[in-house]
Amino acid sequence: MLLSNVINAPAPRAAAPKPPAPQAPGKDEVFSYNPQDRLVMTTETKVIPNVRPGDMGPATDHVMLREQLEKVNDQYVYGNDDPRQNSALAFASAANTINSFLEVFPEKVKWAFKYDKLLVRPNCGEDFNANYKRESGTVNFYMKEDPVRHAHVHSGASGDIVSHEVGHALLDAIRPEYMNAWGPEPGAFHEAFGDMMSIHMALRDDRVVQELVKQTGGDLSKPNLVSHMAEELGTGVNNSPGERKTGGPYLRDANNSFKWEDPSKLPDEKGTPDKLGWGKHSFSRVWTGAHFDLLKAMVSERREAGMDPSQAVKESNQELFKMLAHMILESPHGKFSYRDMAVAFIQSDKMHNEGKRAELIQKVFTERNILPADLPTELLERDEASRRAVANARLFQSDQTPSFETVPVVLGPSLGQFSGAVVDVPTGLDEGLFKSDHLQSSTEADIARLVKAGKIRYNDPHYKMKDADVYNPKGEPYEGVVTWQDGQMKIERLHISC
Ligand SMILES: [Zn+2]
Repeated sequence: MLLSNVINAPAPRAAAPKPPAPQAPGKDEVFSYNPQDRLVMTTETKVIPNVRPGDMGPATDHVMLREQLEKVNDQYVYGNDDPRQNSALAFASAANTINSFLEVFPEKVKWAFKYDKLLVRPNCGEDFNANYKRESGTVNFYMKEDPVRHAHVHSGASGDIVSHEVGHALLDAIRPEYMNAWGPEPGAFHEAFGDMMSIHMALRDDRVVQELVKQTGGDLSKPNLVSHMAEELGTGVNNSPGERKTGGPYLRDANNSFKWEDPSKLPDEKGTPDKLGWGKHSFSRVWTGAHFDLLKAMVSERREAGMDPSQAVKESNQELFKMLAHMILESPHGKFSYRDMAVAFIQSDKMHNEGKRAELIQKVFTERNILPADLPTELLERDEASRRAVANARLFQSDQTPSFETVPVVLGPSLGQFSGAVVDVPTGLDEGLFKSDHLQSSTEADIARLVKAGKIRYNDPHYKMKDADVYNPKGEPYEGVVTWQDGQMKIERLHISC
């Protein structure tokens, strides 16, 4: 969610995957639930369907809590002062996010890791942070005290944050190559996808919609609890001396006016609340802002047609959530830019929605400078058969590990101690990238940028990485680490998204 000081690295799961045992039928269970966080909303309850006891804690078909929770009065519902409430909140939000996405995504989803369930770890140490780790198949949540409010801020108790991290896991399941890309835009899109999931999940909750309408009267360009991400954690960050300020009582705000700029020309990684950086959290704000523009336009259209604000918000949310799922279904393979993704968004609308929103998408993404004003119209048409053939060749090929094409690039002399290292770059079958030297120069520029930001770890030959070595001295996860094979240096991608 946010890069800062991560204290405790999770141990990998001990048990190897077991063959599926015959399972008792699951049942509806009631959990403590908060679609926002304790700063914004009171905690209430939600029924999670098809829950059964897992070997580590309550589980559905797709997700498991790594904590055995004792039910109280036959429910997983706990008071605000009961630490079990944090665990129940994290699990309920994760299960609800996955169930909701699977309702709108038209294909089967298989995790990018080797386990059948995403593991929710609610108590991973002290930090204002949360992350998804592919290698361990976990979403990990942390706690830190807000020094002004004296509240213990549990990232797993925030619906926004849990949906964001689970969003990383879902996108990783569908397009694993995005977490293997080295350029700024795939990483930033991953972050935007997390925030889009938070927005859509929040708006599926009636209490949130009610509060949103109270705050805005249905004009979503006004400050509101849905566009504000992770309010309690953001406030904790802002109240802590030495932390970077976020610009308001949130971690990020989807109501923004950032326009696309070439990230390779942005000098700063993290930017500021008002200035874009090339780093993934900062640059994600452009895409999330455009997505929220779509929502605003769709709500306005319904209200102008006479619909009441709550209904307009709910219907627009459901429509846009489906559009997002269709975009991901038709999204580029391998290395991509925001522009490629926006083209896929329009194409997917033509393929799955009769092009009803194609014009709106083009307008919004052109206003955000993501699409050029003179976009050739033939780009927006796609031969569905060829596209599906490519997608089918790649999706869910293996039972164990995700599969995609990569092209090895050997780094040239400008990369200092990393010169000569081999870097695998994911490419799409439908791309002509590797036919030119563009891949060489863009990969070298991507790695150089990460080296400068301290995101590539050098290791001597024969060095054995320890768990804590995946974090740099600032406590941020490395993007890549050096490994050696038969005297050949390689930079391997790490798969951690905060
Ligand atoms: Zn993230």
